[in-house]
Amino acid sequence: MIQRFHLWLPSSRISDAQAKCPTSFSLSSRDKLKFVEHSDQRVELTVSAADCLFCRIIKSEIPAELIHRDDQCVVIADINPQAPTHLLVIPVEHIESLDEASQKDEALLGHLLRVAARVANGAGLADSGYRTVINTGAGAGQSVFHLHVHVLGGRSLSWPPG
Ligand code: 5GP
Ligand code: ZN
Repeated sequence: MIQRFHLWLPSSRISDAQAKCPTSFSLSSRDKLKFVEHSDQRVELTVSAADCLFCRIIKSEIPAELIHRDDQCVVIADINPQAPTHLLVIPVEHIESLDEASQKDEALLGHLLRVAARVANGAGLADSGYRTVINTGAGAGQSVFHLHVHVLGGRSLSWPPG
C-alpha cells in the first residue's frame, strides 16, 4: 500500500504536514514516512507499507497457509509454530501494533478476537483451551510490525509466559 498526499505547506512546517496526514496511517514510525520537499514549497508525504511481510501475504505476494479470510482480516498458519496449532489473525489494514490502534479500530479489534475464537474452535481447541497473544513492541517479542493475534493450542501452556 502506498499513499501519497500533496500538502501545500512551507517545507519548514513538516510537523504541520504530519498533523494533516489522515489518521488511518501510523505516524509514529518516521521510517515509514517519506517527505520529499519540492522547490515550489510542496511537501510530498509518502506512507508506505509496501515492504511489510504481512501486507505482502495479504496481497498473496508471499504464500501462506490460509485458514480464513474476510473483508477485515486473514488467518494464516504460523511458519514457525510454537504449538501443534499456531495461527495468526491479521487485520487487512496495516496497523503496526496494538499500541498504534485507535478508537476507530475498536470494532476491528473486537472482530479479530471473535475470529480468533472461531478459528480456535474450528481447530478443535474449544475443550482443551487455547491462548491468544498479542506481542506489542520488540521488547515483548513482536518481530513483525503489523498487528496480529497469535492463537496457540494443542498442548498444555504454562503460565507465566517466558
Ligand atoms: P511476533 O513475533 O511479531 O509476535 O509474531 C510474528 C510471527 O510471524 C512469528 O510467530 C513468526 O513465526 C511468524 N512469521 C514470520 N514470518 C512468517 C512468514 O513468512 N509466514 C508465516 N506464515 N508466518 C511468519
Ligand atoms: Zn502490513
